[in-house]
Amino acid sequence: MKEGLVREARRLFGEDIAENEPLAKHCSFRIGGPARLFLRARQLSILKESLVFSRDNSLPFFVLGRGTNVLVPDVGLEGIVICLGAGAVQFAGETIFAEAGASLERVAKTAAEEGFTGMEFCAGIPGSVGGAVIMNAGAHGECIGSLTREVFGFEPSGAEMQFPQEKLRFGYRKSSLREFPGVVTAVTFALRKEDARTVKEKMQRFLAVRRKAQPVRAQCAGSVFKNPPGDSAGRLIELAGCKGMRRGGAIVSRKHANFIINRGGASYSNVKGLIEAVRERVRKAHGVELELEIIDLGDKS
Ligand SMILES: Cc1cc2nc3c(=O)[nH]c(=O)nc-3n(C[C@H](O)[C@H](O)[C@H](O)COP(=O)(O)OP(=O)(O)OC[C@H]3O[C@@H](n4cnc5c(N)ncnc54)[C@H](O)[C@@H]3O)c2cc1C
Repeated sequence: MKEGLVREARRLFGEDIAENEPLAKHCSFRIGGPARLFLRARQLSILKESLVFSRDNSLPFFVLGRGTNVLVPDVGLEGIVICLGAGAVQFAGETIFAEAGASLERVAKTAAEEGFTGMEFCAGIPGSVGGAVIMNAGAHGECIGSLTREVFGFEPSGAEMQFPQEKLRFGYRKSSLREFPGVVTAVTFALRKEDARTVKEKMQRFLAVRRKAQPVRAQCAGSVFKNPPGDSAGRLIELAGCKGMRRGGAIVSRKHANFIINRGGASYSNVKGLIEAVRERVRKAHGVELELEIIDLGDKS
């Protein structure tokens, strides 16, 4: 990247832009090299300006939510990584409007406190609202897509976009928004009124189930593989004898076989090596080809 471009970025974005920012700091796996440029876009106007800046300079951009579903390569990412600031949350009747940078869990907790049901399953899902609609985050048989009524965003040109419900498609850990080349800026969710105590108790129950089954405090990115139809990836991986397998600092969790944990110092290639080793064992043991759920940002294919 030309020095003049970096200077221009500094002029435009001041202290909100960083050079060679280690992405490991911004991802729950704690793995990944530097972003050539890293912008914390605290306001929509800055986000818009950054999109125009990258378009005008043919600079690729990547939007990072809370980095809880990505595996970043050790060489880092070229171009500009844009991270949204914490977002606002507003209630209007039985809908919640949440900015994309807001924590999904916080939105769910606020909904519970206000006596709205629908988001209890989000308890313990550690991403942002934007990341959740892109990935169609879900748990306990429910998913964010079924609550989503409208999505707001910016095109790569900085132009505003709106996606009403009928233009959105959600599937198992995917949404039509994955094809959208721009940035999600806000989402409207439809909920229903319910006694606040009942909602909070349901969230507590969901959290307890999660804590019992998953290594919730570990450095990881949640479930590595999607569940194959009618089965559980964790079950197949465990039966194939993969629990405890390691490559460098990366290990297949002994608590939940579908989690790979960075025990400290794990590299991108350690995790990739483990992913391939697990796939191979599951293929041999069960004849099933596991599909990645996490987003591998080092995969050029
Ligand atoms: C301990 C743990 C438990 C988890 N449990 C679950 C679970 O139960 N269910 C589940 O579904 N997931 C789970 N996850 C995975 C993860 O939390 C979710 O997928 C989450 O929704 C990702 O949000 P994020 O903000 O971290 O997205 P990121 O990981 O930052 O990004 C994911 C993708 O979304 C894109 N993106 C993010 N924000 C935007 C935006 N504003 N505009 C455009 N693109 C954007 C990114 O470019 C990337 O492609 C878990 C993760 C961990 C670490």
